[in-house]
Amino acid sequence: MSPLFTSSGSLLTLLAGLGLAGAALSAQAQPSAPKAPMDVARPVPMPLLQPWDGPHGGVPPFDQVKVADFKPALEAGMVENLAEIALIANNPAAPTFDNTIAEMERSGRTLDRVQTVYGIWGTSLNNAAMAAVQAEMEPKMAAFSDQITQNTALFKRIEAVYNSMAAQKLTPEQQRLTEVRYKAFVRAGAKLDAPAKARLSAINQELAGLFNKFSQNVLADEADQTLVLKTEQDLSGLPTSLRDGAKAAADSRKVAAAGVITNTRSSIDPFLTYSDQRPLRENAWRMFTNRGDNGGAHDNNALITQILQLRAERAKLLGYKTHAHLRLDNTMAKTPEAAMELMEQVWKPAVARVHEEVADMLALAKKEGSPADFKIEPWDYNYYAEKVRKERYDLDQNEVKQYLQLDKMREGMFWMAGELFNFSFVPVSDVPVFHPDVRVWQVNDKTTGKQVGLWYFDPYARPGKKSGAWMNAYRRQQRLDGQPVTTIVSNNSNFVKGKAGEPVLISWTDATTLFHEFGHALHGLSSNVTYGGLSGTSVVRDYVEFPSQVLENWLATPEVLNRFALHYQTGKPIPQALVDRIDKASTFNEGYATTEFLASALIDMKLHLAGDQKIDPDKFERETLAQLGMPSELVMRHRTPQFNHVFSSDGYSAGYYSYLWSVVLAADAFSAFTEAGGAYDKQVGERLRQHVFTVGNTIDPAAGYRAFRGRDPKIDALMKQRGFPMAGAAATSAAPAAAENPAKTTKVKTKVKASGKRK
Ligand SMILES: [Zn+2]
Repeated sequence: MSPLFTSSGSLLTLLAGLGLAGAALSAQAQPSAPKAPMDVARPVPMPLLQPWDGPHGGVPPFDQVKVADFKPALEAGMVENLAEIALIANNPAAPTFDNTIAEMERSGRTLDRVQTVYGIWGTSLNNAAMAAVQAEMEPKMAAFSDQITQNTALFKRIEAVYNSMAAQKLTPEQQRLTEVRYKAFVRAGAKLDAPAKARLSAINQELAGLFNKFSQNVLADEADQTLVLKTEQDLSGLPTSLRDGAKAAADSRKVAAAGVITNTRSSIDPFLTYSDQRPLRENAWRMFTNRGDNGGAHDNNALITQILQLRAERAKLLGYKTHAHLRLDNTMAKTPEAAMELMEQVWKPAVARVHEEVADMLALAKKEGSPADFKIEPWDYNYYAEKVRKERYDLDQNEVKQYLQLDKMREGMFWMAGELFNFSFVPVSDVPVFHPDVRVWQVNDKTTGKQVGLWYFDPYARPGKKSGAWMNAYRRQQRLDGQPVTTIVSNNSNFVKGKAGEPVLISWTDATTLFHEFGHALHGLSSNVTYGGLSGTSVVRDYVEFPSQVLENWLATPEVLNRFALHYQTGKPIPQALVDRIDKASTFNEGYATTEFLASALIDMKLHLAGDQKIDPDKFERETLAQLGMPSELVMRHRTPQFNHVFSSDGYSAGYYSYLWSVVLAADAFSAFTEAGGAYDKQVGERLRQHVFTVGNTIDPAAGYRAFRGRDPKIDALMKQRGFPMAGAAATSAAPAAAENPAKTTKVKTKVKASGKRK
């Protein structure tokens, strides 16, 4: 027995304490000694390893966390989990759903709890000590999961259960879980022979190195290159906040200049929007769009060729035609062809809208006295678009903000959740938090009064917290062993904390993001399943953003605005005329936004459909865009040599289309409400809750959507939302024709990032 377990007696004592020493564990199976993957000498830090206790069915012990404990706790969690897996894999009893698939669900709980808290510290309380723990532990955890997926004895048992599902009379949810697990193992190479497995591992390791190099190269070009603004005139057009930022950047770099523009999107985009100096705009644009494409040590082109070839080889090894086919296998779209079809339907109207936007901008430029042959170049688009926006919509973001108080918006979300999900929210102060700014609410069913979970809210920016907004699932709903386990979720954002007693005012975009992240939280809180591995947000990549995207729509409902969008001084609700202006401006510049997104998504898919041909990325990008008819006035949102979504991990490779897929579903779903009794139609709301929010991954998402909507999704609502005309009158289905095969998913830790509009 590993010395790890001395403080709790033995492995079996520990397992018993976790409720894990069930029949399958205590029967004939002798616990084989777990292979400790690393040396652990120090005593076990028990708070992180203990089951969560306290009120609300137990809560994370945030008041007892020490960064120094993470490493030994993670190591102990991994050792324990490997021991649990060994018991399952080496069980002499014939494989059954209960002694194999369900037992896997029961395993790894200690590690899961430790990883949850470790993840929170990594994203929300990071510092040098934490970063050092992460640098050491991340590769170890990756190797650990390979150890499980390459466990042949375990896979043989999973396969046996999968092949006898009918004979075993499993429930539909049990069949789904078995299929999800089986296919995840197969996709990870479990069926390959030993040499092929070895080759697969080698490919994975080589890819991991190339991914890291790719992102380091992009980072280097972002860090090393700047645009120096030499004189006051170089700052012309920039609002005060940008001038101050440029000056501060110059000072911090010790550059004697009027200002410095750094090579990141958050710095370049505003400069392109406001700078009056056209040659400087061009320089800024070229610097930014050529990241990773400048030749020399940080050029990514050769890496991309290698990555694509390795991915193509791996896909073939695993029995797929291309990497795109492998990646799409575990999605709602199911095939690259279905994803391509959707993108192609939106492409032409988006490009047509770009031509209209360009015509509007040219007209304005002429009015301002530009020469007759003036042409909008990519470095002019944001600049003239902003001028058109002001002229046409007269929308001042600062005026809108005065009606959007953070606390009132939160109350608005609670009210909406009461109407749509029958939830009530009660603040609690009896649970530990990881920072004094974090507040916690108990979520109850309004009718029965029964608790459905806890919602943690961490609203403010601080050093060590990553930027953006996200939802995190701390504990997933399940009732595997009779006793119901309730959900614990959090929403996290980066608002600037105001002075004590003063309301925090947020932008319309930020309020939309709040509702978006709350949609992910409601997806977790609504979950009503037996197996935690299928609960809440544990759904496929191109479906997970759907519940959150659809919830964004409730912000703009009069019911929310009239009650909660109240002026911070007068307390008066936002005037309808202002709401109308927001609404009118909402389709503005959608040609640009959709086309720059789609160009990236199409190139991503086509690169990964090309198979094992040796690709020159620059040439491929140039020729493909020419074939597509890419307008000359803009570029891809992420050009190939800097496309981190696709080349700094497998993450969104052949998957950048997912954002569009989810948004089609969201627009189509909301139109179900507007076609019926409006946003608060009880029947439509109940169908959405029942077939989308409560089911997690227990059913095929396409089937769930159909049960909610009464048909497959159509793209019409999205086209309308973006102000695009439909090609032809006939509605077109966005869903693949062959949607009957249950979609598959892998066991992933839910950590849903904010998407907002910016991707
Ligand atoms: Zn999201």
